[in-house]
Amino acid sequence: MRKKIVAGNWKMNASKVAAERLVGGIIAGLPNPSPCQWVMIPPYPYLGCVDSAIQGHDIALGAQDTSNEQAGAFTGEVSADMLRDMGCQYVLVGHSERRSLYGESSELVAQKFAAAKRAGLIPILCVGESLQQREQEQTEQVVCQQLDAVLFLGENFENAVVAYEPVWAIGTGKTASPEQAQGVHHMIRQYLSDKSQKSIAESLSILYGGSVKGDNAGDLFAMPDIDGGLIGGASLKADDFLAIGRSFIDQGVKA
Ligand code: PEP
Repeated sequence: MRKKIVAGNWKMNASKVAAERLVGGIIAGLPNPSPCQWVMIPPYPYLGCVDSAIQGHDIALGAQDTSNEQAGAFTGEVSADMLRDMGCQYVLVGHSERRSLYGESSELVAQKFAAAKRAGLIPILCVGESLQQREQEQTEQVVCQQLDAVLFLGENFENAVVAYEPVWAIGTGKTASPEQAQGVHHMIRQYLSDKSQKSIAESLSILYGGSVKGDNAGDLFAMPDIDGGLIGGASLKADDFLAIGRSFIDQGVKA
């Protein structure tokens, strides 16, 4: 069975006190046994305190971005090795905010994906189309181009995760319907199966992201190719975040 994952991307939110309170609340409410892998993705400065707080609990640490470079004169950058050193197991690459606000190209994102894998991190590659691209029926083309950039570098998706996040659904309160999301997830799996290795594509966890909440997670996660969620806004409140992961329990999923 594919790994079920619920990952919380805090973006540029929280403070040290708020981070500790949030992690404490999540730990206090963790279902036992847990139906999924929980991943917390705080801003860089709080990686250390979140790492300390989750020790001994079934929660993994992730970072929101990594440099594509390994080391050197790259002021302001943080390497994948450093993230590993700080206890990270996962790292987001190519979040739509990085692509749109900071001009990250698919080629750069693919280099970050490769850097993460080199360092022994699990990259979570974010892909997805804008509203205009969806309306022009370019979803498949856009998502496949984003995947192609990674394949072009000779990388595969073993020990990696893909997050399908339609840009029009991120932070907007608009969620893709379970059927819309399932259609793209299935297409991604099929594409990677055809272009790369079937066994890797079959075991790849593909997360959905875009206004996931406790009350819509169950229907999304019931879809055969949706293996969990990448959560923004709802990851900032312990109860909301926990409710999303708990919807796997209703489906009888055991980690
Ligand atoms: C995200 O930022 O990856 C995200 C999915 O945000 P939200 O859940 O707030 O839409």
